[in-house]
Amino acid sequence: MKYDVIVIGSGPGGYVTAIRASQLGFKTAVVERESLGGICLNWGCIPTKALLKSAQVYDYLKHVDDYGLKAEAIDKDFEAVIKRSRGVAEGMSKGVQFLMKKNKIDVIKGSGKIKAGKKVDVTDADGTVTEFSADHIIIATGARSRELPNLPQDGKKVIGYRQAMTLPEQPKKMIVVGSGAIGVEFAHFYNSMGTEVTIVEFMPNVVPVEDEEVSKAFGNALKKAGIKVMLNSAVESVDTSGEGVVATVKTKKGEEKLEADILLSAVGIKTNIENIGLEEVGIVVDRDKIIVNDFYQTNIPGYYAIGDVVPGQALAHVASAEGITCVEKIAGLHTEPIDYGNIPGCTYAYPEIASVGLTEKAAKEAGYELKVGKFPFSASGKASAAGTKEGFVKVIFDAKYGEWLGCHMIGAGVTDMIAEAVLGRKLETTGHEVLKTVHPHPTMSEAVMEAVAAAYDEVIHL
Ligand SMILES: Cc1cc2nc3c(=O)[nH]c(=O)nc-3n(C[C@H](O)[C@H](O)[C@H](O)COP(=O)(O)OP(=O)(O)OC[C@H]3O[C@@H](n4cnc5c(N)ncnc54)[C@H](O)[C@@H]3O)c2cc1C
Repeated sequence: MKYDVIVIGSGPGGYVTAIRASQLGFKTAVVERESLGGICLNWGCIPTKALLKSAQVYDYLKHVDDYGLKAEAIDKDFEAVIKRSRGVAEGMSKGVQFLMKKNKIDVIKGSGKIKAGKKVDVTDADGTVTEFSADHIIIATGARSRELPNLPQDGKKVIGYRQAMTLPEQPKKMIVVGSGAIGVEFAHFYNSMGTEVTIVEFMPNVVPVEDEEVSKAFGNALKKAGIKVMLNSAVESVDTSGEGVVATVKTKKGEEKLEADILLSAVGIKTNIENIGLEEVGIVVDRDKIIVNDFYQTNIPGYYAIGDVVPGQALAHVASAEGITCVEKIAGLHTEPIDYGNIPGCTYAYPEIASVGLTEKAAKEAGYELKVGKFPFSASGKASAAGTKEGFVKVIFDAKYGEWLGCHMIGAGVTDMIAEAVLGRKLETTGHEVLKTVHPHPTMSEAVMEAVAAAYDEVIHL
């Protein structure tokens, strides 16, 4: 059972790596212990977006009279919403199964464990162990919900993201700990469905990695939607002995007790690096991540790692890009290291958030002299027509050389607009070039051109 490439884990890192490896002529196998597609397709990106779509449709229905329409007896069926999301995830996983077959990739079911001599032991559901070997072994085992010592997850009342997308009943009250993308997406979904949601965030702003103006605007949007937000606060302990949960929250003003049916812990991820043979082979790990070079080679020749298990943004598109870079390098192609400064990050609550590059604060701290432009969707014809006037596009340029340092968006559909800034930055586009690129009218994307115009005092519609 000898392969050119064995990939352990079939998330967006693993399955994409396997397809690219097969395209490059490698005899490839992928080892998976659960469902093809990993967290992204089964428990992450895709099922959450299916839930959020239901929330969006429901929100539209609730405000249908804003559009001159009438609808009566609007209601939701929580179970059906969950079922739809699971169906979408299942369909995507089947799609990966099809892609594996199409690309002649062997799928080995079971838990993979690497061994010295470029070997992998796979233990199947019956406990049978089979040994495989490959010239190149790529670890793409991903991550799971991180558990804080004072917030152990029982999967029922104190839950992680998996349970949050498969709850048998809709909770009346929910505490969400953490306001990163995962936390606020669930907060938005449950709030839209009618759950009373409180977000507890340790930092002074929600979505704390974003540009401060975006964080503030998003915080206001959460409040407007009826979500309670506790900033500079930390859940110290949680009592699950009663019917629901009682969380003790440390705030700047002192301790507060919060009661709810469910507490969702959304405080980050923990990599799946245990029991996969790293110690036996001697692969170096630091702070929960496998250490690799620019082409994802570990310290032991023939062993590689990509995706959530390595340092860098824990995002599906990053995992895929790393896998492609890794196998292209193995194949001897001229491939460049990934520019981690040009990775877009998206949050799919309402309003959506999308950003790339430096925040204004980071750009200032880096010593740049800035040209900053902002265009609000309240001045956009398309946003007015669509009834989605919240938010803005903010662009940051280096005043000296015109480099596009950062782009930050908040508003309806902005996650589909950020690629313009990512490509522009990749091609080292200047503000002038964006300005001279004719954008279609009426679109939300015109706001990018107008924000750039604002940075150079040429804005038309403000
Ligand atoms: C709720 C949620 C929403 C998210 N939304 C987004 C989003 O909108 N956009 C985005 O870019 N990212 C999003 N992410 C992050 C994204 O899902 C991850 O970054 C991405 O899945 C990482 O890909 P990966 O291939 O490294 O690992 P994973 O997707 O975690 O896949 C790893 C796979 O390896 C398997 N595995 C683990 N150990 C073994 C073993 N020993 N043997 C065999 N198989 C093994 C696992 O079963 C799993 O299938 C979200 C995450 C969550 C939790």
